[in-house]
Amino acid sequence: MAKHQLRCEFCGREASSTLKVLQGGNSSICKDCATVISNIFSGKSSVAGSVGANAPLELEKVPFPSEIKAILDDYCIGQEDAKRTLSVAVHNHYKRILSERQGSKYADKLSDALSNVELEKTNVLLIGPTGSGKTLLAKTLARVLNVPFAISDATTVTEAGYVGEDVENIVLRLVQNADYNIERAQIGIIYIDEIDKVGRKTENVSITRDVSGEGVQQALLKILEGTVCSVPPQGGRKHPHQELLQVDTRNILFICGGAFVGLEKIIQRRVGHRAMGFTNQSTEEAAGEAKPPSVYKQVEPEDLITFGFIPEFVGRLPMVTVLEELTEEQMVEVMTSTRNALTLQYEKLFALDGLSLRFTPESLKTLAAQALEKGTGVRALRGILERMMMNTMYELPSFPEGSTLMITSDVVRGKSRPVLIKKKKGKTGTEA
Ligand code: ADP
Repeated sequence: MAKHQLRCEFCGREASSTLKVLQGGNSSICKDCATVISNIFSGKSSVAGSVGANAPLELEKVPFPSEIKAILDDYCIGQEDAKRTLSVAVHNHYKRILSERQGSKYADKLSDALSNVELEKTNVLLIGPTGSGKTLLAKTLARVLNVPFAISDATTVTEAGYVGEDVENIVLRLVQNADYNIERAQIGIIYIDEIDKVGRKTENVSITRDVSGEGVQQALLKILEGTVCSVPPQGGRKHPHQELLQVDTRNILFICGGAFVGLEKIIQRRVGHRAMGFTNQSTEEAAGEAKPPSVYKQVEPEDLITFGFIPEFVGRLPMVTVLEELTEEQMVEVMTSTRNALTLQYEKLFALDGLSLRFTPESLKTLAAQALEKGTGVRALRGILERMMMNTMYELPSFPEGSTLMITSDVVRGKSRPVLIKKKKGKTGTEA
């Protein structure tokens, strides 16, 4: 009779000669996950999400692009192009990794001729205004696949030898989030924000060359294309005699994002000239007609080079996709229809005290309009909502249980306080 195999309930791995799994009552845990939990309780680590980080990438379970997109839809409103592109890129990326693993279902399907064809890594570049969901998409992808994820900011990276962070620290963050499990870190996802800031500051290369920007691109280039880098386990600068972690970045998916302010002009100029060649429109007319979102969607590698990227760097980000500024309706959707929608979070906080919170449709529109004015996308929504709800939350425990608070547009505009509708008959419409 086959012996029942113990399996860690946190990471899903089975007990083996190299992996101890302990059973207590009806549950079981492996040594690695127990160490992670112990580190969290003793304060050595704060990464609660990394319990189970040792779970292997489930070989047969790379979701289809449509499945990945369906999950992204739960968290991210709009951005159809970006969601489709990312779903395909991520699916292909992990399929590529699996195709190189002996015995995987993908590897078995290949003829000899095809198995020698090397699939190149497809890092992704997200171009979109601040607060449009770039980080959100990258983060959600890592969650879908249950792989380690890290966010870095390109502006903190400098060329080796200069003041600032070494490029290896980007990889270190991923290793830390994988709880120092190098094997898992090596198939993780890294999101590098503000990548547009490492472009040269001028298009005119020959006159003013922004060497530092180019140097950072050179440094990033290596980890983007795949290299074995030596990472100092505690971060900071490398120094002699320090033991370094060797991390292969070949199978790490890099998603870079930035707002690329000014790129639209470069695209317009190029598109304008071309338009003149084929139509009767003048350059100005053609350029004037194009709206920002559509302009960005016409981006070509040459535009990114003009923007200030070295061609090799652009070549390492072969998939480019554009996120658009959300419309007022989409902002309202973000507040009401995503998994952790902000209004639902407030409703939950109220419900915990036996109260109902209602937002009128007009109030949501007003909130969205105010957020749009600030120009920082969805990011502004949270700030506006939090400020508006502050006083109400302060008074919350004093409201009679069972009553309802109504948020109207006047409340959003600061012209009135939320309307308190008490449960008992005849006592409606009282100001809170
Ligand atoms: P950025 O594009 O600057 O990286 P983020 O992804 O960090 O923006 O978004 C900032 C905040 O706004 C996050 O809390 C995120 O959840 C929310 N958000 C941004 N865009 C969307 C969207 N399209 N759908 C739902 N929430 C969004």
